[in-house]
Amino acid sequence: MSTLKPGVVYGDDYKTLLQACKDGNYALPAVNVVGTNSINAVMEAASKNKTDIIIQLSNGGAQFYAGKGCPNDFEAKVLGAVSAAQHVHMLAEHYGICVVLHTDHAHKPLISWVDAMIEHSARNFDKTGKPLYSSHMLDLSAEDINFNLDESAKMLEKMVPLGMSIEIELGVTGGEEDGVGSDDDIGADNPKLYTQPEDCLQAYDILSKIGHFSLAASFGNVHGVYKPGNVKLRPEILKNSQALIQEKRGTGPNPLDLVFHGGSGSEKAKITESLGYGVFKMNIDTDTQFAYAERVGQYVNENPKAFLNQIDPEDGTPYKKFYDPRKFLRAGEEGIIARLEESFDDLGCRGKSLAHNDVKVKAA
Ligand SMILES: [Zn+2]
Repeated sequence: MSTLKPGVVYGDDYKTLLQACKDGNYALPAVNVVGTNSINAVMEAASKNKTDIIIQLSNGGAQFYAGKGCPNDFEAKVLGAVSAAQHVHMLAEHYGICVVLHTDHAHKPLISWVDAMIEHSARNFDKTGKPLYSSHMLDLSAEDINFNLDESAKMLEKMVPLGMSIEIELGVTGGEEDGVGSDDDIGADNPKLYTQPEDCLQAYDILSKIGHFSLAASFGNVHGVYKPGNVKLRPEILKNSQALIQEKRGTGPNPLDLVFHGGSGSEKAKITESLGYGVFKMNIDTDTQFAYAERVGQYVNENPKAFLNQIDPEDGTPYKKFYDPRKFLRAGEEGIIARLEESFDDLGCRGKSLAHNDVKVKAA
C-alpha cells in the first residue's frame, strides 16, 4: 500500500488517494463545513478513525467562514474559502491524516468565484509550491452540455499547472442546497435526475486529455433528506457509464472517478452498490448539520437556566461554566463526529488512511 505524507493532498497524491479508494471499494465522505468548529470536528473524526477525509465548502459556507457581516459578499466568498484552506493547511498534518480540500457547487454565476480562488491558489503555489485547494467543483449541469464541458475544460486548463483537479456535474442533483435548486424536481420519474452514459463519454473524451477530473453523475440523488419513496436511486446508471467508456476507449474498469452527491438520508444498500462502480467521494451536509444542531439542542435543554441567567436568580449559582460557548459548540462538534463515524462505516473507509504518521490519537 502506498503511503502519503499527512496534510492536504493534491496532484498525484490526490490521484493516489482516490485510486486507493476505488481499488479498495471504499469512499471518503466530503463534509460541508462552515467554520473552524466543523472543520476541526471533521479532522478529529478522521484522525480518531484513521481515515482520510474530504473537507468541502459551498460558496455560502465560505461566505459564512469570512463572517456574515463581512461587507462585500463576493469578496467574503473568496476570502472565506482562502482562510478556511489556510486553516486546514496549518492543522491537517497534526491530525495525522490526509485531507482533500474541495469546494462545492459553483453554477454559472459563480464561475468568477472559482476563478478568484484559482488566482489565490496560484499565488500560494508561487510561495509554497502548493495550491490552496485540491479540487474545485464547477457545476454547469443546468446549462447545455457543450457549454458545460467547454467551460470546464477552460477551467481545468488553468488548474492543471497548479496540481489541481476539477469536479463537474452531468445531470441534475435534485433538491435544494444553499438556496440553489428546488424541491419540485425531486421524484423518481424526472429524467433530468439520471445522467446519460453518452454524456459521460463526451466528458471523458474532452477532459481526460487536459488533466484530472471527477464527475458527479446523477443517478436519482437529491440534496437534503426527504420522505422515503420520493427518491429512487439507480446506481446501475454509474455502472453503465463506466462500462461504455471502458468499451469505447479501451480503458481498465471504472475509468471515471465518481462523486455521490446528496449522500444524506440515502439507503445504505444503494451506497454500498455505488462503491463498486467507482464512487470515491460522497458528499454529506444535511445529516451532519442536523447532528450538530441536535447535540446543541440537547445541551440547551439539559441546561436551560444557563441560557437565561448568568447567575441563578434563586440560589445565586454562577452558570459561567455552562454558558461558555466552548461547552455547546463542543457538544455540536461531538454530534458531527458521531454522525461521521456512521458514515465511515457506510463508506468502508475506517482504518484505511494512507497517511504514515506517529500521531497519537487523543482519547475521547
Ligand atoms: Zn451536490
